[in-house]
Amino acid sequence: MDTKHLGINSKLIHAGHRADPTGAVNVPIYQTSTFAFRDAQHGAALFAGEEDGYIYTRIGNPTIRALEESVAELENGCGGIATSSGMGAVSTLYLAVLSAGAHMVSTASVYGPSRGLMEKHFSRFGVESTYVDTSDLTQVRGALRPHTKLLYVETPANPTMQLTDIAQVSALAHAHGCLVAVDNTFASPYLQKPLDLGADVVLHSVTKFINGHADVVGGILVAKDPSVCKLLRSVMVNFGCNMDPHQAFLVLRGLRTLGIRIERAQRNALEIAHWLERQPEVQSVRYVGLASHPQHELAKRQMKGFGSMISFELKGGMEAGRRLMNALKMATLAVSLGGVETLVEHPASMTHAGISPEGRRAAGFSDGLVRYSVGIEDVEDLIADLRQALDAVATESREVATVR
Ligand SMILES: *Cc1c(COP(=O)(O)O)cnc(C)c1O
Repeated sequence: MDTKHLGINSKLIHAGHRADPTGAVNVPIYQTSTFAFRDAQHGAALFAGEEDGYIYTRIGNPTIRALEESVAELENGCGGIATSSGMGAVSTLYLAVLSAGAHMVSTASVYGPSRGLMEKHFSRFGVESTYVDTSDLTQVRGALRPHTKLLYVETPANPTMQLTDIAQVSALAHAHGCLVAVDNTFASPYLQKPLDLGADVVLHSVTKFINGHADVVGGILVAKDPSVCKLLRSVMVNFGCNMDPHQAFLVLRGLRTLGIRIERAQRNALEIAHWLERQPEVQSVRYVGLASHPQHELAKRQMKGFGSMISFELKGGMEAGRRLMNALKMATLAVSLGGVETLVEHPASMTHAGISPEGRRAAGFSDGLVRYSVGIEDVEDLIADLRQALDAVATESREVATVR
């Protein structure tokens, strides 16, 4: 069936779906490392690329391919490349685009390991990188050098919830002859389509929203141009960071419900964000769906919805942040995001503890910041959980003050 003209929820169910020879309604888990050739000519034709088919699972597998084709179609790209993890997708991108002497410009608050990989490892091969506030076009323009080959942005970014105008930075980077890649993990293809906005490559940690059930780690890349797809695939195959068929099956199963999960989670998120804004213990709330978000207009233009990631600042700083983590009962204290269950973490003492307090302030958030990934539970229960936790934090703070 041609699914190109369908709406996104129909695409989530039908895109990339090929009839299985057994009639299986769902794509089976082709749990095999290798595929038999009909005869010598068939094997030769597959290796020569003259015939479509399967050779070896690191190169391609029907279960993995179904996922790749689904996500490629959702992102309006020409082909998908599934990887072992989100970081596998980031490494594949860097390896494909950057050579010795090349330079990359990226978002200052980009996912930590995406920056660490560059600064600790690619730097050993003579690749340089600069991190700027990519929401500010002047900073992006100032960072571009003659040998800049890649502009790599993450929007919304973590945990600042800052947005980058994809169309604007893409036009600038293209005028400079450099490729644009977007980490679309926080938005998912349901809410944001970077390739339609001008980017060349989009990537996801499918561990998050696309799989959505906190039971798989995986990644995927989609490119707009067939030659870029081919290059990315060649790197993925040769560096061996392929996805595995069982992983692909689970991610496909999660993908089918992306729309209804996001619709519900973002409805919860908007209600919680409004509620948090009214709580006396909360200094500020960062949610792109709030009129108070400095880039709310850009969010409306660039995204189809506001998603379910919220950051909020507690007045009590580091201690209040730590106490809230221990006081929440329904929200699970864990990193990761985008699952059906609500997860909470405290960047200053956890994911961003490796950065100095000054560094964290420079990156745009305080030690009292809490990151809250809203799940699909009943919103009344989530709010009750937050209320009892904020009360517990206040009681504990008063007790400590009395003892002192
Ligand atoms: C989690 C995450 C990654 C890395 O993905 P893994 O699946 O953990 O390797 C990359 N980018 C963003 C924005 C993420 O949240």
